Amino acid sequence: MRVKYAYLDEQFADFESYFPELRKLIQSGEFTLGPWVEAFEKDFSAYVGTKYAISTNTGTDALVLSFKSLGIGAGDEVITAANTFYATVGAIVTAGARPVLVDCDDRYVLDVNKIEKAITKKTKAIVPVHWVGHPVDMKTVLTIAEKHGLSVVEDACPSAGARINNQHVGSFGNLGAFSFHPLKPLNVWGDGGCIVTSDDKLAKWLRSYRNHGMVDRNHIEMWGVNARMQPIQAMVARKLLPQIEDLTARRIAHAKQLDNGLKNLSDFIHLPPRPTNMREVYQLYMMCVKNRDELLKYLISKEIEAKVHYPVPLHLQKAAEGLGYRKGDFPVAEKQANELITLPAHQHITSEQVDYMISEIKAFYKS
Ligand SMILES: *Cc1c(COP(=O)(O)O)cnc(C)c1O
Repeated sequence: MRVKYAYLDEQFADFESYFPELRKLIQSGEFTLGPWVEAFEKDFSAYVGTKYAISTNTGTDALVLSFKSLGIGAGDEVITAANTFYATVGAIVTAGARPVLVDCDDRYVLDVNKIEKAITKKTKAIVPVHWVGHPVDMKTVLTIAEKHGLSVVEDACPSAGARINNQHVGSFGNLGAFSFHPLKPLNVWGDGGCIVTSDDKLAKWLRSYRNHGMVDRNHIEMWGVNARMQPIQAMVARKLLPQIEDLTARRIAHAKQLDNGLKNLSDFIHLPPRPTNMREVYQLYMMCVKNRDELLKYLISKEIEAKVHYPVPLHLQKAAEGLGYRKGDFPVAEKQANELITLPAHQHITSEQVDYMISEIKAFYKS
């Protein structure tokens, strides 16, 4: 039984249902910003529960622009998690600041108990990453930020639909960044991103900076960039948004089924704690296992398309050489890089496929 990692053909099997709206868009000639982008921003801010949503070209741009809007740049330090996608750290570097990493906890996210030790006089912001759909403990992050006068930019890129006590991730900090990359829960036909905030000043600045710093056609108030979301992607995102609750609920059901099926293998598999006040959306279903590389090979031989996110920790990447980190600096992230495995748990697999994965994993550890 094949269990596919990618599912975009199924996700967009109804692609023809997008055609009437696409036809309207093409006929309107509204190819930069315009009504489709505005409509999506309105819907997305209502969904997340912030006053504003400022859409962008990518999730990475959403992060870079968030840092810029806070005036973060050369000489500043920004704290984030040791295990995240490259873009979190890349965006901090692009803004001109220095990334300061903090080790992970047993949910694979920023260990909030280690943040304060990383704060210096140069620290300007904390960037909790709601990694793979696992929300970070925002109450603690906000308490620390307030105590030290720091801004909070949530990297909620992979986590549309995730909540803490029913409040959406991205809406806790000064700013939140989302990605609509094809492999995120809310996915478009290419790249897309969005910044959410309830801060009037930041929102106004971001809208202008995203669009060349323009006030109107004939005037600019600053040197900006072009980081606009494509109207076609806004059209797709807006059509998918009403489905996101159901689609993430299916991921959550698969994750529960996996948790239940694997919990008796605790000699070999370490499942992360699942805080009951959080809605985790499982952009990826990850767990720590014994003999990871052998299990990975075995699963792939059984047509189960498991992956590893990621085998090389960020601070040991060539790109990170200038940051001065060494092997041993983030023992939890390093251990997880050797033990983590990702199983398909997306909305387009069946519960039979989930059972098949469980029985193959059991078979592997029995032998
Ligand atoms: C995907 C992702 C990004 C980058 O988003 P893009 O839209 O691909 O630029 C940033 N941070 C995290 C944690 C992500 O998962």
